[in-house]
Amino acid sequence: MTASSSQGSENLDPQKRSFLGIHYVKCGTYGRIYKNKDGSAYIGNCPRCMHPIKVRIGSEGTGHRFFKCFCP
Ligand SMILES: [Zn+2]
Repeated sequence: MTASSSQGSENLDPQKRSFLGIHYVKCGTYGRIYKNKDGSAYIGNCPRCMHPIKVRIGSEGTGHRFFKCFCP
């Protein structure tokens, strides 16, 4: 009995902008940050206090899609 399954039909859409979810702990709100132009990091600002946030994209990339920001 042979079972073969191929799941290689995963299309990566280059036009789809990936983002990270951010929990601004001290401001008590949530938001998203998007990739910068060269795709080396996710950047954005806290929607409440405009504190800048930057998450560098590693070579392997962490599996984390959600980060916490502790605004000063
Ligand atoms: Zn904030």
